Amino acid sequence: MTTSIVHFYRHSPPPPPAVGAELTGCDAGMPVAPISLYALAPEIFDGVLNPDVLGILLTSKCSIACRHCCNESAPGHDSTRSYAEIEQLLDAARAIDTLKEIGISGGEPFMYVPLLRSVVRLAVRYGYTVSVTTNGFWARSPVAAARLMAMLRSDGLAALHISTSAFHREFLDACILPQAVRAAVDAGLRPTINVVASRGHGLAEVREALGPLADAVDYVVMPCLPAGRAEHSIDNTEFVQEQQSPHGDCREDFRKLALDQQGDLYPCCSPGGFTAPLRLGNIHAARPGEAPNGLLRLLSILHEVGPGYFLPFVRAAYPQDLALARFSDKCHLCHVLLSDDRYTAVVHWAGERLFRSLETGRDPPQDQPLDKGGHIATNTT
Ligand code: SF4
Ligand code: SF4
Repeated sequence: MTTSIVHFYRHSPPPPPAVGAELTGCDAGMPVAPISLYALAPEIFDGVLNPDVLGILLTSKCSIACRHCCNESAPGHDSTRSYAEIEQLLDAARAIDTLKEIGISGGEPFMYVPLLRSVVRLAVRYGYTVSVTTNGFWARSPVAAARLMAMLRSDGLAALHISTSAFHREFLDACILPQAVRAAVDAGLRPTINVVASRGHGLAEVREALGPLADAVDYVVMPCLPAGRAEHSIDNTEFVQEQQSPHGDCREDFRKLALDQQGDLYPCCSPGGFTAPLRLGNIHAARPGEAPNGLLRLLSILHEVGPGYFLPFVRAAYPQDLALARFSDKCHLCHVLLSDDRYTAVVHWAGERLFRSLETGRDPPQDQPLDKGGHIATNTT
């Protein structure tokens, strides 16, 4: 573990490639044309990230407004990327040569079928595999759903992810999910069902809802996290939070970059990962900024060990905090640690402490007392 962390830290990146778009001359108030995604944080891409997938939020508009939505999407929202913007984004993504797939999500991409179809065709022309994530609302009519799936398949759609949970079910009839799956299967797809698990609703309930189609799909089960709208719309008793010290590294998660509606780029697509300390940069910045101090250290430790590395340090600094008692999974832990400035200060301190020790070859120093702001009172070397 430590060898590869040191490798990441000491690796000297090659010069960044030329940016993929003109950076000056934009109209006041208009977003600046996106800069190369690689140029946002070259040392991070060289050191820690080898993403296969770029997740693009096409729109913040959704057909429904689930209580758990991490993006807080809703029918009244109207922030949607244009075809031209997506084209610029794909140009900006070219410099990341490991990318193979564009994952389109939202909001609900099927709110804009003509745009969605154009974007699928465009991404295919760029040489990417294309997947779409949806809540399946378009499958109210089996006939219309079949027609839609056939069209998207002919456009080149390669994969469909259908999200479901107890919270989706507050808006969508039980027949929607199996009808969406049927249409996808008949069009030659094997859909993946993203099951957002909460107390009393998980994989077993979804399989039951699918009936004979339960084995025609793949499943990804993730716990509902108190992030985004869930933080204020879901009662604590509805979350499944049973892990005292979640384990697991982020290697696989870092294969999927996420680009949000504001143009902020993140190293993973987890609902828990849209926190300021994980932000790689903004593609509409006039010029690439330097990656924030400590980001490479933070991502290296998450990649190799996971957020569990930091928990003992934060608990030692804040032993009374109930927020540090139990978690749904590692992404919930990550969200808690990186959403509170006091905890984040301790996270950065612990990361710096580890790397100094690796660089000097000396054991880490005795734990330093932290004040209540998470500030380090004494030199850590
Ligand atoms: S969770 Fe998905 S389906 Fe629900 S409001 Fe958010 S984007 Fe829409
Ligand atoms: S632990 Fe954090 S960085 Fe890792 S996948 Fe989860 S949210 Fe992303």
